[in-house]
Amino acid sequence: MPHTGKPQRIGAVKQITSHSNPIVKEIKGLVAQRKHRSQSGLFVAEGLKLATDALAAGWGVRYLALGPDARDNPVAQKAAVTAKARGALILEVSTAVLSAMTRKDNPQMVVGVYEQKILAVDDVNANDATTWVALDRVRDPGNLGTIIRTVDAVGGTGVMLVGDCTDPFAVEAVRATMGSLFHVPLARMSKDEFKRLAKKWPGSVAATHLKGSVDYRAPDYSEPALLVMGNEQKGLEDDVAEACSTLIRIPQVGEADSLNLAVATGIALYEIRRKHLEL
Ligand code: SAM
Repeated sequence: MPHTGKPQRIGAVKQITSHSNPIVKEIKGLVAQRKHRSQSGLFVAEGLKLATDALAAGWGVRYLALGPDARDNPVAQKAAVTAKARGALILEVSTAVLSAMTRKDNPQMVVGVYEQKILAVDDVNANDATTWVALDRVRDPGNLGTIIRTVDAVGGTGVMLVGDCTDPFAVEAVRATMGSLFHVPLARMSKDEFKRLAKKWPGSVAATHLKGSVDYRAPDYSEPALLVMGNEQKGLEDDVAEACSTLIRIPQVGEADSLNLAVATGIALYEIRRKHLEL
């Protein structure tokens, strides 16, 4: 349909003014607690950009809450029409209710509740891949979101969450992806599942390690590549490192013990994907 600049009509919506409305409480629970996200299979993403990304990528949407500023915004109205057609309940809420939902003083004009999607180890198709990144027990949601965003930027295929990782559907992680969450598949697996996968992986399997003896710029990475990254505090577990064919290191001078996990991932990813990235 051509975009006329005129807001589209959404049709029936639910208006909510009370902070104690059960849907507001449900959304607050999804923002605050992993337990609620795991039990319901839902998560919250703030902002119109993430709503348009989620809808364009075909993700299931349960609620779309629109604040006062969204009501005359043609892009927000179009998102609401699409979300409603997909079965979402559209909520018209005050700024105070948006603030309460998201625990932010200056909330975005749109807040969405979406259905989680995460693959299991058997769903990972190495043959159809460029580069996957595997994260061993990543703890920081900001690091995880930044890595998902970077994998998207370099044309990588997906991110594996190995062992006990932070929740990729936590609000901070989702925010840090800047919408790439909706474009980069995630897979969750145990350490043993990962080790079996790494051993039969058809391309390069490179782990970054502070004790690595290979300069990260030296290998000729063959696709599908698998880049393996260690935990923020403890690095890579020895048995995980042993399941990888090369231990690469990013040279450092100066006094820093190591690089930030997301920074190290970005540096390695740009090298692995270098031949495929041109301005
Ligand atoms: N104390 C941890 C250790 O001993 O490994 C530091 C972990 S570091 C903050 C987190 C992860 O980033 C590492 O496990 C590794 O995957 C990657 N990393 C950070 N700096 C690196 C470097 N200079 N070379 C290779 N990998 C690096």
